[in-house]
Parts: sequence; C-alpha cells; structure tokens
Amino acid sequence: MKLQGVTVLGATGSIGKSTLDVIARHPDRYRVVALTAHRQIEALAAQCIQFSPDYAVVADEQGAEQLQKLLLHSAPETTVLYGVAGLEQVAAAPEVDQVMAAIVGAAGLKPTLAAVRAGKRILLANKEALVMTGALFMEEVERYGAELLPIDSEHNAIFQCMPDAAALGAVPAGVEKILLTGSGGPFRDTALDQLKSVTPEQAVAHPNWSMGRKISVDSATMMNKGLEFIEACWLFGATPEQVQVVLHPQSVIHSMVQYNDGSVMAQMGNPDMRTPIAYAMAWPERIHSGVSHLDLFEVAQLNFQRPDFGRYPCLHLAIEAMRTGGSASTIVNAANEVAVDAFLNRQMGYLDIARVIEYTLNKMSVERVSTVDQVLAVDQQARQIAQQEIQS
Ligand code: NAD
Ligand code: MG
Repeated sequence: MKLQGVTVLGATGSIGKSTLDVIARHPDRYRVVALTAHRQIEALAAQCIQFSPDYAVVADEQGAEQLQKLLLHSAPETTVLYGVAGLEQVAAAPEVDQVMAAIVGAAGLKPTLAAVRAGKRILLANKEALVMTGALFMEEVERYGAELLPIDSEHNAIFQCMPDAAALGAVPAGVEKILLTGSGGPFRDTALDQLKSVTPEQAVAHPNWSMGRKISVDSATMMNKGLEFIEACWLFGATPEQVQVVLHPQSVIHSMVQYNDGSVMAQMGNPDMRTPIAYAMAWPERIHSGVSHLDLFEVAQLNFQRPDFGRYPCLHLAIEAMRTGGSASTIVNAANEVAVDAFLNRQMGYLDIARVIEYTLNKMSVERVSTVDQVLAVDQQARQIAQQEIQS
C-alpha cells in the first residue's frame, strides 16, 4: 500500500507520543511529514532525529532558531517553521494524508480546521476544537470532504459499537442511546468537604489513565466528561437526551451503544490511547498498537453508577450548555481553560473552577454563532471575564 503521510500536531504531548509509538511500529504504512510542539524544543528535536519529518513547527521565532541549531547536523532535512501559520501549513500540506489533532485546548482549532479544509483524514483528539465550534466544525468536515475519526477513547469506542459503516453526524436507525462512560477521576470517593483543599498534584494523578495536565484536571472535575458529552452530540448527531453519562471506575469499557432490540454493544480494552489511535489510523483495517490484551480474570469486576452533579458541578454546566446551544459551549470551554490554568498555577482552589465557569456563563449572553471568527470573539471575551474574576 501507499505510505500514508502523517502530521502530528502536538507531537510532544501524551497523545502525540502515543501516536509516534504506533507509527514506529508500522514503517511500511506511515511516514511522518510534520511534527509540532509549543515550547518543548528539546523533546521535539529528539523526535525529529528519530522520525526525520519534512517539517517541524514550534511556537515562535526564538524556538525555531533553537530547534534549527539542534537539528543542524542530526536532521538537516527537516524544515523548521513557527507560529499558527506554520501549524496551518503542515496541517494542509499536499503530502499529508492524515493529521493527528492533538494540541490541547482552543489553540488547536485553527490548525485542525486547516486540515479539515484540506480534506484530510482528521484523527481528532483535540475535543476542545469541536466543543467550541460545534455545528460549524461538522459543516466544514462535510463541505471539504474530510474524513473525521474520533481519538477520544469514548468516542472511538462508540464509533466501533455503531452499525458497520455508520456515517458520523446522524444517529443510525435502531440506535436508542449512547452510554458515555467515565471513571469519575481521582476524587470519586473523596469526602465532599475535603475537595476545597485538594492540590494540583492530587488532581492530575488519574487512577487509570496517564494524560496531559489539563485533561487530567478536567477528568477530576468531570468537565472532561462534560466536553465529551458535547463532543458525542456533535460527532454522532445525537440529542442531549440520547447521551447518558455512566460512572465506571475501572475504565475497561470505553463506552457503549444501546439498540432498540435490547442489545448493548460495548468496546473494552486496557486504558491505553494507542488502541483508539491505531484503530483510527488504520480504519477500516486493524493493526497492532502495542497494547497488551485485556485480562478479564485480572479485571474480575465491572461497576456502574449514576454521576452525582453535587460532586461534579462542571459536568452539569457542560451538559446544560449543550442543551442551551449557541455560544454556551464556547463560553464553558474558554472559562474552563482559564480556570484550570489558574488552579494548576495555584492562583485559586479546586472548587473555584466550577465557580469561575458559572460566573462567566452568567456574565455573558448566549448568542447564535455562524462563523469561526464569531466563535473566537466569544472565546476571547469569556477568557477575559474568567481572568478578571480570578484576579478579583
Ligand atoms: P499534552 O498537554 O500532553 O500535550 C499537548 C501538546 O500540544 C504538546 O505537544 C504541546 O507542545 C502542544 N501545545 C500546547 N499548547 C499549544 C499551543 N498554544 N499551540 C500549539 N501547540 C500547543 O496534552 P494531551 O494529554 O496529549 O492532550 C491533547 C489533546 O487530546 C487534548 O485536547 C485532550 O483533551 C485530548 N485527549 C487526550 C487524551 C489523553 O489520554 N492524553 C485522551 C483523549 C483526548
Ligand atoms: Mg476521553
């Protein structure tokens, strides 16, 4: 088969590294065209030396000079670019077939959209891009004939449990409900009165998954599941009523689809992102991912619970934002990014995350948004309001 050219946006992150691990197992199928990172220049240099991409992209000119020096003798074939323009260029380059969208947060939107508009296969990890733009994102996918495949383990599981060749964007006949599982994070059993004093270190220590810092905090608050609820509605064309969040502490079932004949299809596996990454890269084929097989005797038990919105107010805020529609999800996503950052930098406590998001939502009026520029304006305004509230 023809070698597939791959761009990995956010190559130095948790998803980026797992993607390169899968690629390294299949040199007969994939070739790295571009790798990008924000400020981790040395880590990116090491990846460039291993994968010899045509391009490497960093945040700014200074970083680019630094990377250039590191690659001078060891990877002279790699052209170094920088900034959003550089990211957009390598997302849309003609030699690229697949783009792993694994930049964290709203910063991933523009490069991911550039890949969509170039009609690439999009391996979507960057859920924030879809959450903030919603219908607009799905319309662009349709318009430019891009191929969207979910990397988020839950959405990848749902995709696998849908009827064969189910198209994204509309719930297929016979499907009644999407059962979106989540572990409940590190504070699932913490006494409620102790939540106010939990630290960033405790929040990022996820019991089952190893991930970047932002998504780890989102998992603790279950904002991650809230963003995934919104993501599921858009990806699969589901109404909020068709998606049910299910607490499942073991993270063995990655999500389920319930059919009208009483069947419930579940996708299971060890919690390792290389499974959904390999699945989406090779789809509709299956390839080795490096993930060990699931040992059911070791798992022994699977438990399920309803989520408690008292413990997880962020989950509730996100679900309500999806129900509200318009710019509400954009506001929640932006306020959450600012709040998580402030929590990680010890500017405020854990419980302030939900408080800042709710405050920001109350300060802004929800609008209809029909262009990406409008979305970005709402995003900016929400960030300012959240920031002011944190500093007050
Ligand atoms: P991470 O923090 O480990 O990595 C983020 C990557 O993005 C890094 O390469 C970083 O250099 C780059 N980056 C950060 N800010 C940037 C900016 N402003 N401009 C350009 N590049 C920037 O994050 P992660 O855990 O790999 O998550 C990446 C995305 O995948 C997130 O949207 C997350 O929600 C999603 N996701 C992650 C997991 C997981 O297991 N880690 C699972 C599902 C979904
Ligand atoms: Mg997930």
